[in-house]
Amino acid sequence: MHDVIIVGGGPAGSLAAKDLAAQGLDVLVLEEHESVGLPQHCTGLISEETLHMSGVRPDILNTLYGAEVVFPDGQTITVESDKPKAKIVSRVDLDVRMAQAAMDAGAVYSFSDKYQTHSVDPGVMVRSTTGMHETRVVIGADGASSAVAMTLGDNRPKEYIRGIQADVRYVMEDQSLFKLFLGNKVAPGFFAWQIPCGSFTRIGLCTSWSSGAPSEYLSNMLIRMGMQDRIMKVYSGKIPIGRRALIYGDRCLLAGDALGYVKPLSGGGLYPAFKANKHLVNVLTGALDSDMLFGRDLSEYDRACNADFGKEMDHMYGYRQRFKRLTDSDFNKCCDIIRKNDLVSILKDLDIDHPNEVIKKVTKMPKVVMSALPLLMRSYR
Ligand SMILES: Cc1cc2nc3c(=O)[nH]c(=O)nc-3n(C[C@H](O)[C@H](O)[C@H](O)COP(=O)(O)OP(=O)(O)OC[C@H]3O[C@@H](n4cnc5c(N)ncnc54)[C@H](O)[C@@H]3O)c2cc1C
Repeated sequence: MHDVIIVGGGPAGSLAAKDLAAQGLDVLVLEEHESVGLPQHCTGLISEETLHMSGVRPDILNTLYGAEVVFPDGQTITVESDKPKAKIVSRVDLDVRMAQAAMDAGAVYSFSDKYQTHSVDPGVMVRSTTGMHETRVVIGADGASSAVAMTLGDNRPKEYIRGIQADVRYVMEDQSLFKLFLGNKVAPGFFAWQIPCGSFTRIGLCTSWSSGAPSEYLSNMLIRMGMQDRIMKVYSGKIPIGRRALIYGDRCLLAGDALGYVKPLSGGGLYPAFKANKHLVNVLTGALDSDMLFGRDLSEYDRACNADFGKEMDHMYGYRQRFKRLTDSDFNKCCDIIRKNDLVSILKDLDIDHPNEVIKKVTKMPKVVMSALPLLMRSYR
């Protein structure tokens, strides 16, 4: 019998696999694809702290120092810092290296092996495409559409957004800034991006689920930019926004996108996935030691994640709800407010993992609140 079966060999599954195997536990990872990292869906934009938490040094495509924000009426605001703000990592390389680190620690990967279901009575029997596997605990690290999460009950995230991007043969002149495009004609319910990656450029966007397929928005954007004949590859995926209600059950825990802790304003999931891993490993190793593995014994995981960053996530989800109600004219007004109140000097301190700090500062400025009042009132409706 295995101690732990982890469903999914993405970054969340591999980090848990490495840390649990390093404690001498018998860890089996089921991965439905024949290798990790593919198909790719992620942009790979992460902070230095997130990179550090991954425990590996993947290929770095670029380092970014800020962004040029493009508003619907074409006005732009440049927010640039003298400190690095983000790295663009090769996601395939990150996934491969993290899986290798887990294998080096003793975890075993079973590729082309798709989880189907599991039962708990009294141990765990996992059924996958290769047969039945017995384990003491199962971890669902099976991504945005987690099948394991749905075994815990009616457990969908609050919403999904869809993302799509294209790598194009084009070298941006300024490699230190990425462009962020706002507007309901460009990317309804989210935003679009153009990111310098050295010898190529990554152009993409996310949209609200209700806006239909994002591919049409991407092809319009590529045509507007004159990039439609320079496409090297296109890839897409969905992102859960607004955490799931149930993240543990009898002999079961969720990790990464399956958990649903993705940053609501940016769609970044790697930072919260790695943050939650520390709590998962702490709670699970204690529970395995004492053989107390029922839901009530694992509930500390929920409490620890909540106390660490769950409340901040909920707060940011509240801002997302308001963001979704902004019209293009509202976005243009935001540009004026930023200019008139010289907010760029504050925005340049934005920490991509903790936007709350800067938002708090800005919303405490009476002049800003007064000029943004009509926008705020509308976004609350
Ligand atoms: C367009 C887009 C851009 C993004 N950009 C960023 C970004 O710049 N920065 C950032 O931090 N995040 C970004 N994200 C989010 C990020 O990709 C996820 O948060 C991250 O991949 C979560 O890791 P994970 O291990 O939980 O899930 P995944 O990376 O999705 O891995 C899940 C694994 O489980 C496997 N699996 C699924 N079902 C089964 C099954 N039934 N049986 C066996 N195996 C299974 C899958 O094959 C996969 O390998 C982006 C997402 C999208 C869609």
